[in-house]
Amino acid sequence: MRELAAFYCPRCGYYAYYQTSRHPQCPRCQVPEVMSMVKMHYTEFMHMSCRERDDYLAQAILAANPSLMERLTAPHRKYDSRRIIAEMNTIILNLSAENKVLNDTVRWMHDTIWQLLRERRGDADAAKQEGISQTQAAASQEPSEADGLLGNGNV
Ligand SMILES: [Zn+2]
Repeated sequence: MRELAAFYCPRCGYYAYYQTSRHPQCPRCQVPEVMSMVKMHYTEFMHMSCRERDDYLAQAILAANPSLMERLTAPHRKYDSRRIIAEMNTIILNLSAENKVLNDTVRWMHDTIWQLLRERRGDADAAKQEGISQTQAAASQEPSEADGLLGNGNV
């Protein structure tokens, strides 16, 4: 019989026992990456309590991602609110810069839309003006016609 080993998924923490010859993929995450092998004999891992396994795998997952480890332990390493504030400040500044770009885009779109609307309205107004002048021309002729019909005018 082939040797067994405990494998864990660094993405979700799922673990299971597989033969060492296999390259198991996480059944939960369904990603192509192969699960990581626990670096101890599977019987040893099996004899650990759930809590111990949890701690062990948490450490293993953190160790595989130094930046995650650094982020999680940074506040505990020493009392250093300046650094945290500075980091937050950087994030805020980046967000502000991003926001400014977005606002500029929105402003540009707003201006463009209004310009288009104005142009269209300008056309409509011009057409309306034309229509009014025609109506006025017709109206100015109306009295004479009416007068003619009523026979009151000295046309
Ligand atoms: Zn997983």
